[in-house]
Amino acid sequence: MTAPGPRSGAVSGTPAALAHVNRDTARRVVPLFRPYRAQVAAVVGLIVVTSTIGIINPLLIQVVFNKALFAPGGPNLRLLVILVAIMAIIPIVNGAIGILQTYKTTRVGQLVMRDLRDRLYSHLQTLPLAFFTDTKTGEIQSRLANDVGGVQSVVTTTASTILANVVIFVSTIVAMFILSWQLTIVAVITVPVFFWLTKMVGERRRQVARSTQESLAAMSALSEETLSVSGVLLAKVFGNQARDATRYHEENQRLAGLEVRQQMIGQGFYAIVQSFLSITPAAVYLVAGLLLAHGTAISAGTVVAFTTLQTRLYFPIGQLLQVSVELRSSLALFDRVFEYLDVVPDIVDAPDAVDFPAISSGSRVTLREVHFRYPGAPVDALAGVNLKADPGQLVALVGPSGAGKTTISYLIPRLYDVTGGSVQIDGVDVRHVRQASLAATIGFVTQESYLFHDSILANIRYGRPAASMAEIGEAARAAYIHDRIMEFPDGYDTIVGERGYRLSGGEKQRLAIARVLLHDPRILILDEATSALDTASEREVQKALDALMGSRTTIAIAHRLSTIVNADVINVIDAGRVVESGTHRSLLRQDGVYASLYQEQFEGGKVQWRCPDGDIMADGTIRHRQTQPA
Ligand code: ADP
Repeated sequence: MTAPGPRSGAVSGTPAALAHVNRDTARRVVPLFRPYRAQVAAVVGLIVVTSTIGIINPLLIQVVFNKALFAPGGPNLRLLVILVAIMAIIPIVNGAIGILQTYKTTRVGQLVMRDLRDRLYSHLQTLPLAFFTDTKTGEIQSRLANDVGGVQSVVTTTASTILANVVIFVSTIVAMFILSWQLTIVAVITVPVFFWLTKMVGERRRQVARSTQESLAAMSALSEETLSVSGVLLAKVFGNQARDATRYHEENQRLAGLEVRQQMIGQGFYAIVQSFLSITPAAVYLVAGLLLAHGTAISAGTVVAFTTLQTRLYFPIGQLLQVSVELRSSLALFDRVFEYLDVVPDIVDAPDAVDFPAISSGSRVTLREVHFRYPGAPVDALAGVNLKADPGQLVALVGPSGAGKTTISYLIPRLYDVTGGSVQIDGVDVRHVRQASLAATIGFVTQESYLFHDSILANIRYGRPAASMAEIGEAARAAYIHDRIMEFPDGYDTIVGERGYRLSGGEKQRLAIARVLLHDPRILILDEATSALDTASEREVQKALDALMGSRTTIAIAHRLSTIVNADVINVIDAGRVVESGTHRSLLRQDGVYASLYQEQFEGGKVQWRCPDGDIMADGTIRHRQTQPA
């Protein structure tokens, strides 16, 4: 993608932010139809046909009157029957063509929407994590589902309505001209007046409708606020019920007035249309009389046919005005879709990006003078981090909350790019590695693993879609979850409940570990993988984790020091820097931050394992924690 656009993470959904895109929107909508040129041409052809056929019957009226009913030599019944038959068949044929046209239009509309949805979805997939942390999930869902769907109405309804009505209008004027150019002038003169009146009433109506909407919203906000438990409580303790009732009454009063006005404006509009439809034929009769009196020959058939055509003149104007309003709101929907499509993913493969060799044992991870600042954040989250994890090592990151541990873990798989320094794997800057290769090299186990609402099998297989059943079973066994899976009546086909509610926290973690085992990455990142678990589950998960770590290079973030005392290197992170680094023993000897953290958590080694409900002491006894009396 080469077009300049907002950087990822800089999207806002406010109307003000949308305003600037509006101008180009229409120009961008047209290319969406390019792949369906032939179908669009067919649709246009069909619309032109159905909209034009409508003038045949009024024109036939002239022939019926002049040649069949009131023919100079008396009524011509044979001709009359033929004409009437034609007049009966035409609407039926037109209806049939109309159905075909609707089918074609809907189909083209749906194909374009399908493409747009696909494009948007694929594009969203390429956007970096920052985009999603900065955008409400509901917002993305709504643009993908509702806005793209709403856009469809532009195509199927709005565009075809515009075309049909323009054709109806033009063809009617042409037909009128064929009948009598003098009468056409009379009819056309009234058009601007009708246009102006309709537009004015329409605008007034929209204003009132908007106020009505606002009033309705204000009332529901008020009732929601004041009739909720806390709202009622507040009103009662402050004795404000009467005041709230007055506020409600005032808004309610306003709403009633607006509703009446809206109804009356609608009636006014109706009256205008009706008056026009009745008065303008009268004007035509008058002018026809004047023309006849001055010697211009106008037949009765022409006058009747003409006034019939006249009704076709005003109807399209009303429709076009109506649709122009819809068009504007539909273009706004397009804008919302294009706004997302315009976000340029800033984490993409470099043109000269390389793949890691397929076979290699462990990998070395190096961070050199890494600086990082979150988009929009006032200060650096990482301020010059240097650390190294050699092949097969377990390297731990510990430190207070907010120190930057998670941020470090995000930079390795390029969920974010460093703002300074570099992250290297086996000496290659991760920004020069193809993202697919990077993803294959790195595995992640987080505090709360995300499982799809699908079968256990599908969830594990996600780690490597091509894996065989035997490989999946092997991974599950290694993660100590196979036996548990077999206890379910449906075994591997058991559907994991919404977000995995049917499984315990520890089981979910082991499932996630099986998934990563299958993925078989060379580098493993564990972000507090066991911290949300109780002691028994933690032990199980720890066993699975040990299997997973094996000979891989592991970087583990830990709050509980118990899990990382055996780490090859422990890095203590504080305020975006590595403040201490070494083994458990050497760090204790240093008597710095780590030593005090350890002292705090484990009372200098007396406590071996600290859990929410109690501690396992170094001598093997269990000390239960005092719980608050209920
Ligand atoms: P830790 O994992 O050590 O608890 P983090 O790496 O999560 O710390 O956070 C480091 C710092 O970066 C914190 O000050 C945190 O507030 C900030 N931070 C984390 N995520 C974001 C984000 N998406 N946008 C802005 N700041 C963030």
